[in-house]
Amino acid sequence: MHFFTYKGNELYAEDVPVRTLAERYGTPLYIYSYSTVLRHFRAYDEAFASYPHIICYALKANTNGALLRLLAKSGSGADIVSGGELFRALKAGIPPEKIVYAGVGKTEAEIMTALKNRVLMFNVESEDELREIDRVAGRMKVKAPIALRINPDINAQTHPYISTGMKEHKFGISIGSALQNYGLAARLKNIEVVGLQKHIGSQITKISPYVEAMEKILLLLDTLRSRKFRIRYLDIGGGLGISYKDEKPPVPADLARKLLPLINGRKLTLIMEPGRSIVGNAGILITRALYLKKGAGKEFVIVDAGMNDLMRPSLYDAYHHIQPVIMNKRAAVTADVVGPICESGDFLAKKRRMPKVNRGEYLAVMSAGAYGMSMSSTYNSRPQAAEVMVKGSTHSLIRKRGTLDDLVRDEVIPGFLK
Ligand SMILES: *Cc1c(COP(=O)(O)O)cnc(C)c1O
Repeated sequence: MHFFTYKGNELYAEDVPVRTLAERYGTPLYIYSYSTVLRHFRAYDEAFASYPHIICYALKANTNGALLRLLAKSGSGADIVSGGELFRALKAGIPPEKIVYAGVGKTEAEIMTALKNRVLMFNVESEDELREIDRVAGRMKVKAPIALRINPDINAQTHPYISTGMKEHKFGISIGSALQNYGLAARLKNIEVVGLQKHIGSQITKISPYVEAMEKILLLLDTLRSRKFRIRYLDIGGGLGISYKDEKPPVPADLARKLLPLINGRKLTLIMEPGRSIVGNAGILITRALYLKKGAGKEFVIVDAGMNDLMRPSLYDAYHHIQPVIMNKRAAVTADVVGPICESGDFLAKKRRMPKVNRGEYLAVMSAGAYGMSMSSTYNSRPQAAEVMVKGSTHSLIRKRGTLDDLVRDEVIPGFLK
């Protein structure tokens, strides 16, 4: 559910006409709906209300500070994967005791900063990393709270690039060597074992992989507890899908209905790490049709947003619905919607059956709130898009459009070239 709807033939973001925003702030423009983000967050919070839980929003889906502030004010924690994300989470007011730290390549400096700020726990992805955290914690004379990220060898039945929970993936510690690694963790003096984590992938549209993974993980949890490990946090990761096209993914309430019976009676705090399902459908990307071009047997709509603004179609062959901001009656055509970047992979849609586009009009690329702006770049020296948040009938710029100066600000011309 989201609050981007047509009133008459005009697309609105909550109570604001999208065209007004495009004219005011320019394009390409990301627009986020405050009420949609809040609604998605609350859907989790309410579904799991009967069980102790922390919702740790996965920052990498979208790191805009205004979105983070909204989530922080709603009681969200954070799932971070770098020192940069830790910085953003803390700056937005997310308390460190609600921050979990994942990622296969944590550096010494990042580990130190996370320990100094007393994050809730490190989700450790290898034996080497466990030893490194122990070493750094020892030097700082603190105990590092950790969970092991266990790879349950489950097929999440999603795109291979966003599937993470099978044994051939780089993530986590294989379930077969879990006990051995927990044993090591118990022997390391500066490590305190507090949790167990898994995350099997992204854009998961079925409930069965969650149930299957949970059952496997709970067997391990019970074994650990019988061996006197004090596991307090069970972190089931994120990954719940959204509807891009016609998918019918489960909602948090479905997840709660299936998962809570499995853990009721066990004393735990449940942690979830949703990213896409919080912000994905809470954002759209507005672009303008610059040119129309007839190719050999196909039509191109050339727009002012490219793969640097929204990489998902190029990277994952992902589907995003694209529709005119003013939807008047017109014929349907089949077209490729492409950006201005000098790459054949620069497209937003291919062979898309869509309303015939008029030159100069605004188009809305739907479901662009997650892995859109956060994956964007300035490739082809294109300043980054602006971002706006709408709440009811009010709207506010939450990130200024990039400038030409931004493109070169951090470059240095060496003395020998002066
Ligand atoms: C990416 C990621 C998430 C969030 O995934 P979504 O599909 O956006 O919900 C959660 N946890 C970990 C460890 C991740 O890498």
